[in-house]
Amino acid sequence: MPDPVEHRLNRFGTPFRVGSTSYVYPDDILPNVERLAQQGDVDDVELILFEVDDGPNNLPDAHTVQLLADLAAQHSLTYTVHLPLDLQLGADGGAQHASLIKAERVIKTTLPLSPHAYVFHLDGAGVGEAGWIKNALKALDFVIAWVGAPELLAVENLEAWDPAYLDPVLAALPISRTTDIGHFWKSGIDPLAVLDSWLPRTRVIHIHGLAERDHRSLALVPPERLDPVTARLMSYGGVVTLEVFETGDFFTSRAALLDSVARGRHG
Ligand SMILES: [Zn+2]
Repeated sequence: MPDPVEHRLNRFGTPFRVGSTSYVYPDDILPNVERLAQQGDVDDVELILFEVDDGPNNLPDAHTVQLLADLAAQHSLTYTVHLPLDLQLGADGGAQHASLIKAERVIKTTLPLSPHAYVFHLDGAGVGEAGWIKNALKALDFVIAWVGAPELLAVENLEAWDPAYLDPVLAALPISRTTDIGHFWKSGIDPLAVLDSWLPRTRVIHIHGLAERDHRSLALVPPERLDPVTARLMSYGGVVTLEVFETGDFFTSRAALLDSVARGRHG
């Protein structure tokens, strides 16, 4: 394992890039990115893309992708892209499963943005059953070919399963992790138990607060719970996405994170 890297602090006073989702404002992706970029509010935006069969979708067209790329270049912004569905192999062992068909479309649409990572889920319901790992690896072979570089694929821990359920997949393929701290809190597991060992493979951190549900403001997390996590992140140079979906929740989350960083510096 490499030695912890000394990372230069950015304008937020953090070694990591501070990110939001593409739903800070109740509007489409482009107006969200325009506002966030022009206000200098973030270093990264997580593009949440969805596509309902024969229904609404928010996949950007080629012109919008160009505008998003221009904004990124002008404002030193990066993107992470969240794939729409839990990746699953087709019943015939091929790529003809809705999750892979949509993943391919989203990847081909967003490749011109050179995303920092493609975040994806694997359903853990079948873990332990014969063939689960084989099928997961086969599905990922397709996705790796579309993305072009396995390390850009970042599998996310989900609150429903034991965090170790992804280990065999990560042992078999040189993909990365999306480490969702909020999902640990939601399932009552201390993220500090794994954070140090997970960080070297972690390309993206998701963090959010917990109230009656998760993905609420980080301001709801007490400092004694947040500060030890933030302290670990001071040796992390990837993207930290404040994964909330409302304007107020985003700005109070960012303030809570940066206050926690400041307490670490002065405490
Ligand atoms: Zn997440």
